[in-house]
Amino acid sequence: MSTVFDKILSGEIPCWRVHEDARVLAFLDINPLAPGHTLVIPKQARAYLHELDDEFAAAIGAVLPRVARAAMTVSGSSEYNILQNNGRGAHQAVFHVHFHVIPKVGERGLGIGWRPGSLTSEQAQQQLERMHASLAGSPTA
Ligand code: AMP
Repeated sequence: MSTVFDKILSGEIPCWRVHEDARVLAFLDINPLAPGHTLVIPKQARAYLHELDDEFAAAIGAVLPRVARAAMTVSGSSEYNILQNNGRGAHQAVFHVHFHVIPKVGERGLGIGWRPGSLTSEQAQQQLERMHASLAGSPTA
């Protein structure tokens, strides 16, 4: 299914381009939480991070620190958050993978609700067993 970001990638609708290379496009968010709020997207049509090919994941990983430095320059702040939502319940509105680079400028920027729990060694063991099995089955493990 085509999203607004696919339309930006195809040139059907415009964007304020921050960076572009063969695998990645970065552009200003139209409803920024702070000056310099930028979206970094792969040139691969995938809704969720876990669906990305390594090639595009790696390319995004290389671009994020560079865009973060550019956002710091324009925001005048050395503080920022990287946000990446997957699924409607996790606040994803556009179903094409994207990373937010969000400068923290005083009160402006990302607000976070964080309700930490605790982890027993039994829970950790159980979780690791299943996660290691999942990772072992992953094509790039
Ligand atoms: P998310 O909730 O993580 O899916 O965030 C989607 C983001 O895309 C929001 O911050 C929107 O402001 C942003 N957005 C939606 N349409 C556009 C557009 N045409 N150009 C730039 N940013 C957009």
